[in-house]
Amino acid sequence: VIKPGSKEELNKLDIAADAIKNGEVVAFPTETVYGLGANGLNPDAVKNIFKAKGRPSDNPLILHIQDISEIERLTVEINSTARKLMENFWPGPMTLVFKKSSVVPSVISGGLDTVAIRLPENKIARELIKLAKTPIAAPSANTSGKPSPTKANHVYDDLNGKIDMIIDGGSCNIGLESTVIDVTTLSPVILRPG
Ligand code: AMP
Ligand code: MG
Repeated sequence: VIKPGSKEELNKLDIAADAIKNGEVVAFPTETVYGLGANGLNPDAVKNIFKAKGRPSDNPLILHIQDISEIERLTVEINSTARKLMENFWPGPMTLVFKKSSVVPSVISGGLDTVAIRLPENKIARELIKLAKTPIAAPSANTSGKPSPTKANHVYDDLNGKIDMIIDGGSCNIGLESTVIDVTTLSPVILRPG
């Protein structure tokens, strides 16, 4: 278990961030469940996530950011409903669906013209995104159809040999996927309770 903020953690996160920059797939902790992350702006890297999970290509992924300012270049419109929700619930287990900008590859959104974005609270997740200098696409770190992992050894047992790295950050606090809300219209629509 890596203690948040320790020297050991920082060294390992540098290695993990380099792996992300190289298009590799890294499992990392978030406050909801463990995510399987790759450079969200590199279509080949994102395809590696689908391959490792055996996930159907039309099931879209969530992009994870570490600072609210990053949403500007990933989206085309942020309405007042979205701003209120972000102010109140970010960082945290809430994902918002926006109209996507051309910066976001279509492999992420399964061909839709929207993109799901979340600002997680977990410090390891945020530091990793910061060091990788890119939004990280990440579904739960399990084979498609299996339960979402809340511990690093769940990820190891399921995906060892199919992914490049696992960051052990202990147990996830929440243990349940994020709530997904569509904010492409002024009246928000809950797509998935979390
Ligand atoms: P997960 O499987 O936990 O990574 O969550 C991804 C889920 O977020 C998908 O299965 C969808 O339910 C939802 N989602 C992601 N992107 C979009 C999108 N562009 N539009 C609607 N729902 C989305
Ligand atoms: Mg999942």
